[in-house]
Amino acid sequence: MGRVEQFNSKIAAITVSQPMNGDVHVYVIRKEKVTLIDCGHPSPESLDELFSGLDQLGLKPENIDQILLTHRHIDHVGALVCERAYFGHANVVASYGSLEPIVHLDELDRMKRHIPEQHVAEVIDEAFLQAYRTYYSYYRPLRIDRMVREGDRIDIGDGQHLLVLETPGHSRDHISLLHAESGTLFGGDILLHNGPPLIQCLDSYRKSMEKINSSGADVVLPGHGKEIHNVNETVAQTTDRLTATDQKIIEAWNRNVRTPYELALEITGGRVHRGLRFFIGVVLTHLDELKRNHQI
Ligand SMILES: [Zn+2]
Repeated sequence: MGRVEQFNSKIAAITVSQPMNGDVHVYVIRKEKVTLIDCGHPSPESLDELFSGLDQLGLKPENIDQILLTHRHIDHVGALVCERAYFGHANVVASYGSLEPIVHLDELDRMKRHIPEQHVAEVIDEAFLQAYRTYYSYYRPLRIDRMVREGDRIDIGDGQHLLVLETPGHSRDHISLLHAESGTLFGGDILLHNGPPLIQCLDSYRKSMEKINSSGADVVLPGHGKEIHNVNETVAQTTDRLTATDQKIIEAWNRNVRTPYELALEITGGRVHRGLRFFIGVVLTHLDELKRNHQI
């Protein structure tokens, strides 16, 4: 059953589970129009939870007027790739970045190339592989009705709108949606309580952090985890963590530790374990930027 949390009379969150990677939030804004922000994961369990959450709010899928996607990761496009007809006439809105092909951040093949052969089975074990394949097996092409860019306004009824902020970094197509009247930013996966999230492009991620800092938002409602009230402090913490990772990598690089696998071991304190695949991804992203900026 989807857990429903009411933030105020107009904004609620439905939290649904997904086959891996924890829970994800779907936000519901109820004004003259009913607006969903993101859609959860398309697995049958997540769909059931989403529909039971809507039911608790007295809504049926056909009551939804529009669905705004912060980005096209599978845990955000949910029911839309599964069965669009669930949502009847709902208008699906996403960024122009959605014209680009989707890149899954945890793309395993890319990562495997960076793991010494004798450690591949330990870092990417069979159970994980199976769960991973199931997780992505639901993905289908997505139909988007309207594409938006920086500064566009999305009408939510009652004379109010959401302002589109392009916030790439976690993914290239990522947008955040600012409701200025309530100081609420629907932040997708750009700013998380215990961030940083997975990052596709660090350079644009840092610029997006600056944009969120100056957005004037009092609260960020993220795709995962707790809402964020101390926005500027959380942005500062997140960028500090990125800088600390950069410094660790530069320091190790200067000691001639050069492969993403060895650098990931440095960051995790030297143990080989399943979590290493995550850190190999982190290292690859940081190395891209450090090389581009001639810091290594
Ligand atoms: Zn994401």
